Amino acid sequence: MVLKCSSCNREVFDDYIKFKCPACGKLEIIRCEKCRAMSVKYTCPECGFEGP
Ligand SMILES: [Zn+2]
Ligand SMILES: [Zn+2]
Repeated sequence: MVLKCSSCNREVFDDYIKFKCPACGKLEIIRCEKCRAMSVKYTCPECGFEGP
């Protein structure tokens, strides 16, 4: 299964973090190391929550 960064949609391999959406807790948000470093916003596809 290919994991993609929830912010930039790039495929991620080793350098990423994964956490449950803080709003709905249903989906896992994946952020690549680059987006994390730049604090790019992510949007939960399930509930539309936007986080830093
Ligand atoms: Zn990214
Ligand atoms: Zn959510």
